[in-house]
Amino acid sequence: MTVPGSMINRPLLVSSILTHAVRNNPHQEIVTGLDGGKKHRYTYANFYKRVVQLAMGLQNNGIKMGDRVGTLAWNTYRHLEIYYATAGTGLVCHTINPRLHISQIQFIINDAQDVVMFYDSHFESLVEQLKPNCPSVKHWVLLDESTSATNLSTYTEWLDTSHEDLDWPQFDENSACGLCYTSGTTGDPKGALYSHRSTILHAYASCHPDAVGVSRRDAVMPLVPMYHVNAWGLPYSAMLSGAKMVMPGADHSGKALHSLCETEGVTLSAGVPSIWQIMLDYTLANNLTFSTLKCAVIGGSACPPAMITTLSKLNVSVRHAWGMTEVSPLGTVCLLLPEHESLSEQEQLNVLAAQGRPLFGAEFKITGDDNVTPLPTDGKTTGNLMVRGNWVIERYYGKSESALTDGWFHTGDVASLDANGYMRISDRSKDVIKSGGEWISSIEIENIATEHPDVQQAACIAKPDPKWGERPVLVVLKKPGTSPSEENILSIYNNRVAKWMIPDEVVFVDQMPMTATGKLQKAELRKKFFAPKENNE
Ligand code: AMP
Repeated sequence: MTVPGSMINRPLLVSSILTHAVRNNPHQEIVTGLDGGKKHRYTYANFYKRVVQLAMGLQNNGIKMGDRVGTLAWNTYRHLEIYYATAGTGLVCHTINPRLHISQIQFIINDAQDVVMFYDSHFESLVEQLKPNCPSVKHWVLLDESTSATNLSTYTEWLDTSHEDLDWPQFDENSACGLCYTSGTTGDPKGALYSHRSTILHAYASCHPDAVGVSRRDAVMPLVPMYHVNAWGLPYSAMLSGAKMVMPGADHSGKALHSLCETEGVTLSAGVPSIWQIMLDYTLANNLTFSTLKCAVIGGSACPPAMITTLSKLNVSVRHAWGMTEVSPLGTVCLLLPEHESLSEQEQLNVLAAQGRPLFGAEFKITGDDNVTPLPTDGKTTGNLMVRGNWVIERYYGKSESALTDGWFHTGDVASLDANGYMRISDRSKDVIKSGGEWISSIEIENIATEHPDVQQAACIAKPDPKWGERPVLVVLKKPGTSPSEENILSIYNNRVAKWMIPDEVVFVDQMPMTATGKLQKAELRKKFFAPKENNE
């Protein structure tokens, strides 16, 4: 028989991050890049006051516990205020990706039954189109006042300035605090509803030195949008740590991002490879460096090893991370272990290009097609990647059926695991290439292609083949001003992979189709080049 513990049982609530932050780091700064190169800056103490005022404003306007509050907004201090004012009072902050197709945005708002929508003026025309079709939204509230339109409800009107503090309500830690929809490349988007408990545990785990490792000494710039899985939890982990926060706002040009990084002393930043590429292209083209940036967290799609090398030459170390909307998002982060220190540079790079080792609180296995029986963790065998843990969804928002198989969530990725827990994604299961009965990892082929000096971006896709079933084809976006030949590009594979893994041909494109969260849309490429093969994607 077990003996009950005798410790205080306080619910894990997002409001506790806020109160901890203001008590212990009141003078820490939150800086936001505004249009026209201007900046907004204030302290945690001032942030706190405004969060209280917004919380009261939401209450005054009749928004009740459990209601969904939508946002169509960039990474700004106001968006951050909404995160904390909603969660703190038991509301659900529903961040919406404004880059999705309008029909998907409409579907998402109606599915979530949002009652308020806070939006940046950049999305005004989108909002005008949404308004007649989203009846659940009773209040459309403009976040910034940079518009000539009058008679709009504005954010500052929602701040009840008669308050400076409040007794944050205590409630069940399993209550929802955030909602984020998957991008829905296959069928309708589905909602992942995060709880206070899952959010806090995820924030704790991500602060571990072997994970993202945010500390009070950091200045954190989330390049990843706050509508893409809560900016990977940085609004919580950075504030929990007392870090300076640097919010990039709407200007995602290389120039603006590099300048913010330098002028605000950013030490840690996180984003998908495509946004890092934008910042790196600008940095290199202008012979610039990073004087304070130490750590680049890169995930959302495979980080090309060439990017790790480039950043390392700029004295920035990469933490490659794997995650997904359904996993809050962090599952693994990649770092070298002490035993890797004696390896050659190339061997270390190979380790760093893996998706990494599990955070404590997330557990992984790979399986065969039954999605149940574990396959060997020998670093070679690949299988369906399954995950379970404290911040992994059990069911999608509004659905009664479980999203799990035998207690595990099927990620849809194909990966290997090794004896030290390193996970390496070889493909999204929809994108695997099977040639002559053997698997070819499209990510491995793409990673090598991006080492070619003239290749900006590469996608390896399956072409139907009467003899082999499928053969790999490399789709390439060239770097501006270069004109490599097919032969020249393919020569990079000599002695790197088995002959039969080398793509049969190279197709050059002017643009790569990307999803609203910056992932390559290989289904679009397959549709474009091999239409008859495409089925239900
Ligand atoms: P999302 O829910 O939109 O964030 O997409 C999650 C999916 O992105 C995962 O299931 C992977 O297919 C992909 N992904 C995320 N991080 C990585 C990574 N580091 N390497 C390869 N694929 C990744």
